[in-house]
Amino acid sequence: MTPAPDARPIASVSLDLDDLWTYLKVHGDPRWAERPSYLPAFLPRALDTFDALGLKLTVFIVGADARAPANREVLREITRRGHEVGNHSFEHDSWLHTYAPEALESDITRAEEAIAEVTGERPLGFRGPGYSWTPGLLRLLKRRGYLFDASTLPTFIGPLARWYYFRTARLTAEERHTRRMLFGRFRDGFRPLTPHVLRLGDGQTLLEIPVTTMPVTRAPFHFSYLLYLARSSRQLMRAYLQTALTLCRLGGVEPSYLLHPLDLLGADDVDALRFFPGMDLAGALKRELFAETMETMAGRFRLVPMNIHARALLARRLPSRALPASV
Ligand SMILES: [Zn+2]
Repeated sequence: MTPAPDARPIASVSLDLDDLWTYLKVHGDPRWAERPSYLPAFLPRALDTFDALGLKLTVFIVGADARAPANREVLREITRRGHEVGNHSFEHDSWLHTYAPEALESDITRAEEAIAEVTGERPLGFRGPGYSWTPGLLRLLKRRGYLFDASTLPTFIGPLARWYYFRTARLTAEERHTRRMLFGRFRDGFRPLTPHVLRLGDGQTLLEIPVTTMPVTRAPFHFSYLLYLARSSRQLMRAYLQTALTLCRLGGVEPSYLLHPLDLLGADDVDALRFFPGMDLAGALKRELFAETMETMAGRFRLVPMNIHARALLARRLPSRALPASV
């Protein structure tokens, strides 16, 4: 007898592998230039956690980390354990939209090559650092054979996140200017919530899979936000997640769910990031809440890496949208 097909809708899970130095860089801390890394400590434990949950996901890797000899073994382990790798740019500048076209192409290509060399797999998906993207970037991804882009976050709270960040960062006037669109604009809240095909011109298209926010309110519910709620009450966190998942099921939304290393690390693991929101929770507690969240999601959705989600989406008729002229 053949097993019954899995009736659960799909949810894809991805991890943006933001390293310690990328946080220092965005915060204007000059120590970033030595590219301090927590990957050799973080990744083995994270991969064990995913294995214990039977979870396969997409890991968006930063090219500069793929070039670092100290990271080679731990990054290779990602594909060895059956996860997908994605491109998260080379320099992790959250202001990619300010790059000249040649500089942009060089950054994306170098990252792609470094990731392919160290993991043995060429990325099929891209996510811009700090949700930054441009129409030219999407055309470049298409030319280079990418299957999907995952750079948009349809929420209204981007400007609020930027305000918090400016308040806590040490930046010069010039650095503030470069980062003026960090985390997006209020109007990003009107971007489509669900995956769609972008018409790039000349008959070309590219699949866009936004980071899923809560249907109706467009409030984020990726795991960093759940942890923020858990600081007040675990019951509140659970109720918020259940509401988000119920709204997704009712609205026919198959979530693309986003994770960050700091979701699984506490200040007891990385002291240099004590300033970051949510770092007052112990690492062990975060990992316990993470396991609970993934088990809750797996009760309602079939959790897969993003390329499997992308292929399932492309096999259906998706809404298509003209590419905006600018961000
Ligand atoms: Zn990032």
